[in-house]
Amino acid sequence: MVAPRNIAIDNTSEALRSGGTFFLETFGCQMNDHDSEKVAGVLLSRGYRQVETPDAASLVLYNTCSIREKAAQKVFSRLGEYRTKQAAGQIIGVLGCVAQQEGENIFQRAPWVSLVCGSASYSKLPELLSQLEAGNQRVTGLDTDTDETFETPVTRRDNPWRAYLTIIEGCDKACAYCVVPFTRGPERSRASDSVLREVRELVDLGYSEVQLLGQTVNSYADPSARRIRFSDLLLAVADVPGIRRVRFTTSHPRDFGADIVAALEAQPKLCNHVHLPVQSGSPRILRAMTRTYTREEYLEKIAMLRGAKCEIAITTDVIVGFPGETEDDFAETLSLLEGVRYDSLFSFKYSPRPNTPSLSMPDAISEEEKSRRLTILQEVQREIQSRRNATLVGNTFELLVGNKSRRENQWSGHTACNRVVNFASQERALLGTYVQVRATGAGPNSLVGEHVP
Ligand code: SAM
Ligand code: SF4
Repeated sequence: MVAPRNIAIDNTSEALRSGGTFFLETFGCQMNDHDSEKVAGVLLSRGYRQVETPDAASLVLYNTCSIREKAAQKVFSRLGEYRTKQAAGQIIGVLGCVAQQEGENIFQRAPWVSLVCGSASYSKLPELLSQLEAGNQRVTGLDTDTDETFETPVTRRDNPWRAYLTIIEGCDKACAYCVVPFTRGPERSRASDSVLREVRELVDLGYSEVQLLGQTVNSYADPSARRIRFSDLLLAVADVPGIRRVRFTTSHPRDFGADIVAALEAQPKLCNHVHLPVQSGSPRILRAMTRTYTREEYLEKIAMLRGAKCEIAITTDVIVGFPGETEDDFAETLSLLEGVRYDSLFSFKYSPRPNTPSLSMPDAISEEEKSRRLTILQEVQREIQSRRNATLVGNTFELLVGNKSRRENQWSGHTACNRVVNFASQERALLGTYVQVRATGAGPNSLVGEHVP
């Protein structure tokens, strides 16, 4: 265990002690977004006020992602902009995966930073803040050997209609390319009673849609005496009075079982969308990635989803240019896309990350070649989505309206299967309501439609 440490004392904490203000910028995935919502909750409950610009803040925080190199670099370029701020009395902090990965090196690269706290140590934040408020100038929280989850009495949520809720933190899988097990620590599930209590609180706050989060959400293992399975937790969340939609992401193919499909079939409040990252269609590359399933096993899970009594949208993540990926391996990924016909996907060029096993694998693919494969893959998928979305024209969907366009009478929302639909309506107050919309047109990434009053 590395205890939080302090190195020097100065007077920059004066601003914190007398009713501090904070600015918090987040880079990365939904889990990072939600961590930031909880960090904001911790700060607000200590009397801090959130401000819109870093210049207006006594405490400037960056919550960072290090999944790919670009995201990590972005943080250092942001920190560069803050070189002079410490002298002006501002306190700068780095949170999240880059903090965990770089640790105290951040103090060397950016000596004006005072707080470095990794994602696995957020439960220590109140203690670290107390140290900053007491005048300590360099404070770190970098443990990963924790069994605690980050639960906060207050969470300041950004989206007024869809609430994120982390049910499992960290990751015990060991994909050869991935930093998450290093930056977020081991898998820790939150007790089912605590999850359900928060869902009831969310309903009281006016939320009707919740999204359960975890790097491998379906590896959930209830630590309480109830020991309920993930699929039973989904059903229990859907049963909370006032809940209308339940989403969950990300599912790991290895732990994706028939009980989850049965739950989706049985309970219409469970949204008919599963995000099931495949990463590659090549059996050889899947083995090299240590993904723990074969192409065949993955396709069996897809067949199970396609065989469900209700239609279920399937989305995925794909990495191109993993070390040693040949033209044939890449062709197998394309053939998998054609076979599965995903509703949408996130695609990434392989990015070598510190400490990961793939860093020392031979036959690196050039950046140019990775870009070429990414473009081809995205074109293939665009075609698939265009064809798939075109078949939906004429259907009517229920949307949760989340946006009003600047254009007169134009709105947009998400279907249960997580498609975006842009639609026209003469109504005035649709934000946050559920409406019926008939699809009248389709593009590769969204549908257009008209409100069916
Ligand atoms: N836990 C999820 C899973 O197992 O699929 C995904 C977590 S990760 C935050 C999201 C996606 O980033 C991964 O599915 C993968 O496609 C991508 N990713 C992770 N590490 C990467 C790397 N080193 N280079 C490129 N993409 C990466
Ligand atoms: Fe990373 Fe693999 Fe864990 Fe997903 S399952 S977070 S890709 S190690």
